[in-house]
Amino acid sequence: MLRLKPGREKSLRHRHPWIFSGAIATADAPGESGATVDVLTADGAFVARAAYSPSSQIRARVWTFDARESVDSGFFLRRVALAVAARASMVDAQHTGCRLIHGEADGLPGVVADRYADTIVLQLSSAGAERWGDAIVAALVEATGTACVFERSDAEVRKLEGLPSRIGVRHGALPEVVRFVEAGIAYRADVVAGQKTGFYLDQRANRDAVRALAAGREVLNAFCYTGGFALAALAGGATRVVSIDSSGDALALARENLALNPGLPADRATWCEADVFAELRKLRDRGAGFDLAVLDPPKFAPTAAHAERAARAYKDINLLALKLLRPGGLLATFSCSGGIDAELLRKIVAGAALDAGIDASVIGRYGAGADHPVALAFPEGEYLKGLLIRRAS
Ligand code: SAH
Repeated sequence: MLRLKPGREKSLRHRHPWIFSGAIATADAPGESGATVDVLTADGAFVARAAYSPSSQIRARVWTFDARESVDSGFFLRRVALAVAARASMVDAQHTGCRLIHGEADGLPGVVADRYADTIVLQLSSAGAERWGDAIVAALVEATGTACVFERSDAEVRKLEGLPSRIGVRHGALPEVVRFVEAGIAYRADVVAGQKTGFYLDQRANRDAVRALAAGREVLNAFCYTGGFALAALAGGATRVVSIDSSGDALALARENLALNPGLPADRATWCEADVFAELRKLRDRGAGFDLAVLDPPKFAPTAAHAERAARAYKDINLLALKLLRPGGLLATFSCSGGIDAELLRKIVAGAALDAGIDASVIGRYGAGADHPVALAFPEGEYLKGLLIRRAS
């Protein structure tokens, strides 16, 4: 049982699911890591039932605000079934990749599950999620009939929870290759060693947007990973796509992905293993020009504390990309940093345009897809944002 300091139940009353260590007055025999505890106000009134994380600053994460709801395998069957049902319309023959569980927004803090056709990749990142791993796996199998649940619990945040890294099969057998389809384009996801769960499913709608803009354009695709935006641009009729990434493994898979789609014009794609900061300067010095640029960098600012240094990095690449655009050219620029909100991204890009001496407008705004919901009570869940910028003619 956790008893809160006076008044510290306010955020919980607003359905925010985290309890920070500083809000707790006393913890009576809360048990081991991940144990289910009742959270009470200073006066002893029930506020929530939560998972206890003894070594994390986020000392507990709420499973339920309903005193009558017990946390057991039936609870996970219900929550997982709801999350899977909410994505039913997002999966079809042309789209077999989808995030099925997105943590707090699905009432399952610390749980992420991504579906790649018949394989589900599960990421458990909190003590409570870890404690109920078997129940969550069983619930995923029940809700989807999946042939394989593969665990990729190797995210850095597990260290803050005192949890070891774990990678391996939890249900069924992992197919030799995990392939899936996004907007009719085939990809292989490296679910064992790739980034995140193997693919950036959160950019699905934005890859569609880039595809719709690509016809007849020369495209620069910085931070390309395994080629998602490149293949989308080629499918949309780009005349040339130059993709840059520092990971040789990612680029090898990008090439493989392009080869999986014989309908796409492979001769229009160039893959470049390089640091984007350096390569954009080289392109500038060579006088290169593009009609459409995509900037999808990694998380430069994991938290607000890193925002200032990250802002300089974002400004640098945006400035270089804007200079590489021909008049009338488009820039789709993203940030997946929790510490940079949409308004800050806009300010950074505005500063970049000013320094570059370029007039430009925002003509579109992007976020993560509908399979990555953001709970209204948990705005911290919003991490991916993007702007579509048009350089003046
Ligand atoms: N746009 C991709 C996802 C990008 S993830 C998609 O749609 O799938 C960010 C990528 O940036 C990773 O592939 C990582 O290898 C790469 N990266 C990180 N720092 C880099 C740098 N300084 N230069 C080049 N690539 C970098």
